[in-house]
Amino acid sequence: MTQPLGFDTLAIHAGSAPDPATGARQVPIYQTTAYVFRDADHAAKLFNLQEVGYIYSRLTNPTVSALANRVCALEGGAGAICCSSGHAAQIMALFPLMGPGLNIVASSRLYGGTITQFSQTIKRFGWSAKFVDTDDLLAVEHAIDENTRAIFCETIANPGGYVSDLDALARIADRAGIPLIVDNTTATPYLCNPIEHGATLVVHSATKYLTGNGTVTGGVVVDSGKFDWSANDKFPSLSQPEPAYHGLTFHAALGSMAFTFHSIAVGLRDLGMTMNPQGAHYTLMGIETLGLRMQRHVENAKIVAEYLEQDPRVEFVTYAGLASSPYRKRAESITPKGAGALFTFAVKGGYDACVKLVDSVKLFSHVANLGDTRSLIIHPASTTHRQLDAAAQIKAGAAPNVVRLSIGIEDVRDIIADLDQALAAATA
Ligand SMILES: *Cc1c(COP(=O)(O)O)cnc(C)c1O
Repeated sequence: MTQPLGFDTLAIHAGSAPDPATGARQVPIYQTTAYVFRDADHAAKLFNLQEVGYIYSRLTNPTVSALANRVCALEGGAGAICCSSGHAAQIMALFPLMGPGLNIVASSRLYGGTITQFSQTIKRFGWSAKFVDTDDLLAVEHAIDENTRAIFCETIANPGGYVSDLDALARIADRAGIPLIVDNTTATPYLCNPIEHGATLVVHSATKYLTGNGTVTGGVVVDSGKFDWSANDKFPSLSQPEPAYHGLTFHAALGSMAFTFHSIAVGLRDLGMTMNPQGAHYTLMGIETLGLRMQRHVENAKIVAEYLEQDPRVEFVTYAGLASSPYRKRAESITPKGAGALFTFAVKGGYDACVKLVDSVKLFSHVANLGDTRSLIIHPASTTHRQLDAAAQIKAGAAPNVVRLSIGIEDVRDIIADLDQALAAATA
């Protein structure tokens, strides 16, 4: 073949081949914990990372590897690992870079759960996060100090319909000698490949669009393989002999695969945030139709956002695909195939009307999830963003009068009809 394979071809074929033992066409669920070594020499070579193979499923498993390789191909990375959840993927992305006393600079517009993970829980490891408005590039630059080890943002921020200027953030990270980490969950590799915009690491919650039907909790970390971990002394786990792996110097020994092998040999081995083979199988099935689904998701989202924007019961709509959005131009360059299918809108009548609205929908499901084939609705201020104070809620795009929609791939007329009757009930 002379041309590189297209997205929809990779979504079906990347990472998989007919099973060498049986010819099985679909990727089998390798429901096994361990793998028989050919002999003692083979075992030693595997443990020394001199030969690639399977040892124990906390580290690697053939079904899980097929998924890692597929997402890696779709994102244009060098290597990838799968994790037990999107939140696990975030910890796994940071783990080789961080240590006590070190920090990251994170966007103030992140998924509510990530804000809690970064503002509270990572402190137990001695890590910290400085939250800044990533539209203020000077503030991002000023927040970086000698202990900063990464910039972290989301391509399309959940829940606010905000699009990050990935290229500008990557340039700042580059100048500081640190990686840009991008959570690409809400855009998916179909709408955006952050590595093309300069990201070093891409994290996903596979729970959402990748699986696409609300059956799996999973995560993925993809490494571009392009970051020079040895350019400065900031990343000793990768550039210096690693005491946690008998003194192996990962970057010198493994080059562009250093981050991936460290994540397997030390991260998954010792933190154990491993994806299970059944979950990987469901996600592989889901990804086969990712392109088709995302086309319909963004098509429907635009129609619904335009409908809501002209409705007198609605105060505003935050969808970056709207002509009125301040992020329209940026969305056209970062996510040219569409601005995702997740946005918020403000209901006239405030908090009480929002609560009535989520109680009145019939087709929409009131759940704390997104990226399902089904249309989903949630009122962030009373649920996902409940732990945040009012100021932080507003900063995160989750003010009390705001409802979040994850637009599904149903017939768009039915989606609109359901919102219409629920708005009537909520604002009566
Ligand atoms: C859901 C989500 C996460 C966390 O993923 P889990 O699989 O639920 O752990 C992280 N980031 C974004 C943008 C999400 O939507």
